[in-house]
Amino acid sequence: MRVFDIHTHPILRREGCGQSAVKRLIRESRALGITRMNILGDVAHNGPCQTAEQVTAINEESAQLQAAYPDFFTFFCYLNPTLGEKAVMSEVERCVNKHGARGIKLEAANHAADPCMRNIARAAREFDIVVLQHSWSTDTNKLSKGPKVQTDPDHTALFAQRNPEVKIIMAHLYGCGHRGVIAVKSLPNVWVDTSGAYPIDGILEYAVEHLGAKRVLYGSDIPIRESRVKIGHVQGARISAAGKKKILYDNAAELLGIA
Ligand SMILES: [Zn+2]
Repeated sequence: MRVFDIHTHPILRREGCGQSAVKRLIRESRALGITRMNILGDVAHNGPCQTAEQVTAINEESAQLQAAYPDFFTFFCYLNPTLGEKAVMSEVERCVNKHGARGIKLEAANHAADPCMRNIARAAREFDIVVLQHSWSTDTNKLSKGPKVQTDPDHTALFAQRNPEVKIIMAHLYGCGHRGVIAVKSLPNVWVDTSGAYPIDGILEYAVEHLGAKRVLYGSDIPIRESRVKIGHVQGARISAAGKKKILYDNAAELLGIA
C-alpha cells in the first residue's frame, strides 16, 4: 500500500544530518512504501517564537529539499503568526509563488485561537492552501501561568469555526486524544493527522468512526517518531482496507492536489 506522510521534519542544518542523511531517509522510506513526504521544516531549531529571518531560513531549507527531490517531497511554509500581517503575507507569497509551497505550518509561537490567526486565515484563503496546526490536548489553565504556548484541540476548533472556508489539519491525533476528535467532529473543514506520542488502543478507530476515514491523514512526525511504528498503527487498526488506503495516501494526495 502506498504511503503519503503529511507530517515530517527532515533536517539539514543540525549535526549528524545533511544530504547523505536525506538520501538515506528517502531510500529507507521508499522501502516501507512511502512514496511521498510533506516537509514541515525544522521548526524547533530556535525555540517556539522565531524571527522573520529564522522563519525564512527554515522555509528555504524545505524548498531546497523539495527542489532536489520533487517527486518525493512537497512542503508547507512555516510561519510565526505573531510577526504580524505584513511578515505573514510576504513569506507566504514568497513560498507559494517562488517555491510552490502547498500549505502553512504552525507550531507554538501562539495558540490557534489568538487574534493574530486572522492573518493566517487570510493567507490561506488568498493562496488557496491548507493550514496544518500543531495541536495537543493541554491543561490550558496551567499554561496561562507560564510562558509556554500550546494549541489545544479547542483552540484549533475555534480557529476552524471562525474560518469555515479554510482547510485545517489538526496535527497529532495521538496527542489530541478522544476529546480532540470530538472537538472537531462537527467541523467538516478539519482533518486530523495520525502523528503524536504513545500508542492509544482504539484511537484511530475512534477517529474514523466519528470523522470518517476521509478526514484522517497519515502523519509520522519523523525524525522524532518511527515510520515503521506509525504505519503499523494504521495497518493494524480495525478499519476497512478502503479506509486505510484513504488514510495512508489518497486523502493527502487529494488535499494537496497531487495526481
Ligand atoms: Zn511535527
